[in-house]
Amino acid sequence: MAPGPISIIRSTDVVRVVHSPADASLAADRLRPNGPVVMVPTMGALHDGHVSLIQRAHSLGASVVVSIFVNPLQFGDKADLAKYPSDIDRDLAACRDANVDLVWAPSVDHMYPSGFATRVTVSGVSEPYEGRHRPGHFDGVATVVTKLFSVIRPDVAVFGAKDFQQVAVIKRLAIDLGLPVTIDVAPTVRDHDGLALSSRNVRLDPLARTQALAIPRSLRAASSAWQSGVRGRGELEAIVTAELVDLDVDYVAVVDPSTLSERTNDTGSVVVLIAATVGDVRLIDNVVLG
Ligand code: AMP
Repeated sequence: MAPGPISIIRSTDVVRVVHSPADASLAADRLRPNGPVVMVPTMGALHDGHVSLIQRAHSLGASVVVSIFVNPLQFGDKADLAKYPSDIDRDLAACRDANVDLVWAPSVDHMYPSGFATRVTVSGVSEPYEGRHRPGHFDGVATVVTKLFSVIRPDVAVFGAKDFQQVAVIKRLAIDLGLPVTIDVAPTVRDHDGLALSSRNVRLDPLARTQALAIPRSLRAASSAWQSGVRGRGELEAIVTAELVDLDVDYVAVVDPSTLSERTNDTGSVVVLIAATVGDVRLIDNVVLG
């Protein structure tokens, strides 16, 4: 491999991998003349949901940059962090197959060097639901996303609707800080049986996997009820909760999709948010109605 100013530690014919923020910034600058740079932030353990985000990113710009970083700052529970699946070689193969132009896979020291003392906090929309059940989680998300954006400076960043509240937090962050990036949202990709794809699903044993199907079933029940005219928040929540009796439910909420508040909006659409633990795996899912 010819030596150059960018230290490409791992490289194949079609996927370029950088590690340090300086190398990532330079590599992204080199893509910029080709047209819009679209970023897909991930924590690795890539599945078809991530691949759909990458495909969408290709349709939105000229170059696609994927970051792979399991962000310790967003894990309050260190045991959860330790159990988080990781397989960088498989991830790089997936990025290569999806024609990703650049992979940025920083280490924890790259992202949070000694003395790192900054936190980005988005109040309001980050506070209920995931914010309440995972204290500090969204500070970790907002901090890492701010750093990812400031290094890559993408024109567009694609996030999955599966993490509904995360999207609301990142949109607020981008508006409030005047970040010159468009936040694009991709639909949730589901397995054949309806379970939303998640890196955490590999930790479900067969029994837990079956029990977890109550989550998509409950969302389908909410959709059917909505289609038959049910609009009451309490009624919809009860329909969802009834399907989740065997799970350890953190919350079921029927809220305004743009504010996440319990007041319904003018258009009358709502989002049903669910977080529940099956076995020792915590899963989240949602559906927008209307
Ligand atoms: P993660 O690696 O879990 O942090 O997710 C990286 C991105 O992929 C986030 O924007 C997620 O919302 C998105 N994502 C995760 N699972 C899915 C899915 N099943 N369908 C669509 N996007 C997803």
